[in-house]
Amino acid sequence: GEGPLVSPWAADFPILARPVRKRRLAYLDNGATTQKPRAVIQAMEAFYEQSNANIHRGVHWLSQHATDLYEQARDRVRVLLNAPDSQDIVFTAGTTASINLVAQTWGQSLRPGDEILVTGMEHHSNIVPWQLLCARTGAVLRHARITDSGELDLDDFRAQLNPRTRLVGVAHVSNALGTVNPVAELVRLAHEAGALALVDGAQAVAHAPVDVQALDCDFYAFSGHKLYGPTGIGALYVRGSIMAGLPPWQGGGDMIRTVSFEGSTWADGPQRFEAGTPNIGGSIVMGAAIDYVLAIGLERIAAHEAALLAEATERMLELPGVRLVGTAAHKAGILSFLVDGIHPHDLGTILDTDGVAIRAGHHCAMPLMSRFGIPGTARASFALYNDGRDIDALVAGVRKAQKLFGVA
Ligand code: PMP
Repeated sequence: GEGPLVSPWAADFPILARPVRKRRLAYLDNGATTQKPRAVIQAMEAFYEQSNANIHRGVHWLSQHATDLYEQARDRVRVLLNAPDSQDIVFTAGTTASINLVAQTWGQSLRPGDEILVTGMEHHSNIVPWQLLCARTGAVLRHARITDSGELDLDDFRAQLNPRTRLVGVAHVSNALGTVNPVAELVRLAHEAGALALVDGAQAVAHAPVDVQALDCDFYAFSGHKLYGPTGIGALYVRGSIMAGLPPWQGGGDMIRTVSFEGSTWADGPQRFEAGTPNIGGSIVMGAAIDYVLAIGLERIAAHEAALLAEATERMLELPGVRLVGTAAHKAGILSFLVDGIHPHDLGTILDTDGVAIRAGHHCAMPLMSRFGIPGTARASFALYNDGRDIDALVAGVRKAQKLFGVA
């Protein structure tokens, strides 16, 4: 070790100063959602105090101003993902909405016998929309196997790709295990097979630099709330040449060019997929969250979280009866584990009594849990504000639970 792990950014997060159960909060549930820095909270207040109006329709100054801020936020997403053009970015309600958008727009072209290939480690939001689409169209959903270490079985992935595969959907980082998938290679294989590639970046964007041009993916989805931004907002990157040919999904105001009872025509670009008054404030505040992480630098954030993960992994494995679930060579920010003789929910409850917030359960990845023959795991997930004290509290809490249960 190089001395205690400290976070220079923890002081930016007001909620971390509040006691929970009269103890210092050790917030290790960042895989569920992240806390918000003061800059993001202030951006929300500033928007509603100074800039609130509806967008794209008003002739008045404040509407123009809100529209400018909204379109600037779209450009912040472009920068975050290194997309070629801000017109490649659709604002959505989050990752789930982004994937459902693809299933309901691009998915209209599916025919019986077409195939979608996902991996066995996907979040339910990258499984269920495809199941619904397959039920509507007669297409078939396949999944590639996961190895004992929690990595994608590349041979099985290659074997399942075939000329009927129309789309590959893969998590950039598994929210359940922390496994980082070799996305650029998977996209290349998908394209070789004539399929498109969608990347679920919900657990990736806040934790390492993302470059959709380097990945060469066709779709990239993420949520603002896991990126130190608000809930109810997220985005979908769509390759420009694909966006142009996609039919709309939700109809309404703002997504049209003309409307008549004889028929309507659609707006170009991302507006076609942003029917109705969008989450204007959420988009702008998510833009502030993106500014926050970009100012720190995602390489620095990744290095800090890698140090936390290495330290936590080492300390937990020193304890008797602790088993990691997910031991991939390339992992990011997530420690999923089991403690002999203690149900993950009991462990979570005991940790909570000392102000340690973890998640226990299937992490919206029930097929992955089934693969390991377990109902769930305990999961500690890291963010840029975590430090060595959080790891100390986690380890102490696990020891306490083991003593309470008389298992070690
Ligand atoms: N995919 C992954 C990998 C996730 O971690 C999450 C959120 N936990 C989602 C999808 C769904 O995101 P949301 O609930 O914000 O739509």
